Amino acid sequence: MTDALEKSIPKVGIVSLGCPKALVDSERIITRLRAEGYQIAPDYDGADLVLVNTCGFLDSAREESLEAIGEAIAENGKVIVTGCLGAEPEVIRERHPNVLAITGPQQYESVMSAVHEALPPRHDPFLDLVPDSGVKLTPRHYAYLKISEGCNNRCSFCIIPKLRGDLVSRPAAHVMAEAEKLVSAGVKELLVISQDTSAYGLDIGYATSRWKEREYRAKFLDLCQDLGRLGAWVRLHYVYPYPHVDEVIPLMAEGKILPYLDIPFQHASPKVLKAMRRPANQEKQTARIAKWRSECPDLAIRSTFIVGFPGETEEDFQLLLDFMREGQIDRVGCFKYENVVHAASRELDHQVPEDVKEERWHRFMEVARDVSEQRLATKVGKQVDVIIDEIDDEGPIGRTVWDAPDVDGAIELHGFKKVKPGDIVRARIVEAGDYDLVGEAI
Ligand code: SF4
Repeated sequence: MTDALEKSIPKVGIVSLGCPKALVDSERIITRLRAEGYQIAPDYDGADLVLVNTCGFLDSAREESLEAIGEAIAENGKVIVTGCLGAEPEVIRERHPNVLAITGPQQYESVMSAVHEALPPRHDPFLDLVPDSGVKLTPRHYAYLKISEGCNNRCSFCIIPKLRGDLVSRPAAHVMAEAEKLVSAGVKELLVISQDTSAYGLDIGYATSRWKEREYRAKFLDLCQDLGRLGAWVRLHYVYPYPHVDEVIPLMAEGKILPYLDIPFQHASPKVLKAMRRPANQEKQTARIAKWRSECPDLAIRSTFIVGFPGETEEDFQLLLDFMREGQIDRVGCFKYENVVHAASRELDHQVPEDVKEERWHRFMEVARDVSEQRLATKVGKQVDVIIDEIDDEGPIGRTVWDAPDVDGAIELHGFKKVKPGDIVRARIVEAGDYDLVGEAI
């Protein structure tokens, strides 16, 4: 390409903040930009304008988003803002009156119009080829598959329904078509995401849609069965603990989808759960987990919890620690409660002091580490499938079926030659630490 031609191609820089759902939005926007002939600039200097995809979930994330916008303005000057914080344009304008445009989450058309206005596309069908599977920000061997947007629940600490609206499910045919395309492009692991994965299809009456001569139903169990037939690993994230979640455990036991359930319980004290406006029968939850494990002994459970929710007493906190130990929750994320602007829980009395939250968080993480260590110790001697993520100086590093990328543990492998990222190999576990494993070739 000549210098003049190279210079004439409009270039957009992308700053992507937030959760995997925001990452999927960034991927969609990048795919659209590339399809229209824009180039993605690796730094501020080389960009004609910068697009900041923001997160607005917690106050700390909002602040991080506002700082990222400020940095992009200082470094480049031309900035368009999208994503969750874009749902509150007044907050952005107050700090950064010079942003060119602000659009909310999933407003792909508005983002594209704002880009067109600030930086018109230069169309060249020979240069604008985009891989059929779109552009991925995750490594090629795994991909996030977003099945719906929004949420019909109203957990008192959460502003996602305010930012992203009620549940809107994608038709099953669209989800299947995207999943198949990803798998045929080399993706080995599909990470199913949404705000509320187990509610999939509720808003559209579990409608069926047609794809490749077959009807597909937009329902949690059906989707798991259908995705399980594609020959890739299928990992379920953000599964709200509705009773019908029990139905997918046999699919995990049969190896159709991974024996992995990311199910945010948030707390274990009935009183705190009630104040959170979430299902509050935690005794039942422990019995349920035991039943899941009796049906699928290999099941790994990942969950997230909040400590220091308004009104949480030491007794409530002890119930949470007991639940962690009894439920043997394999993997956890723990957040100190934040009094997020616009969240209903902000109005609650008996806010927990910051030093108490901090102290509980450390105690919780200690228990979580002990449970993780105990769980991993039981795996030593077992054989397991491992997906290779990278090869470093010491050899391959991968993840077992019990570990999701970025958030869970890793397994260091010995004795494997000629493997590459994306390969799935069988290994024997020979050592276990607090969070990670060591395995060897069989
Ligand atoms: S289920 Fe999740 S996304 Fe929905 S309101 Fe509760 S915490 Fe927010």
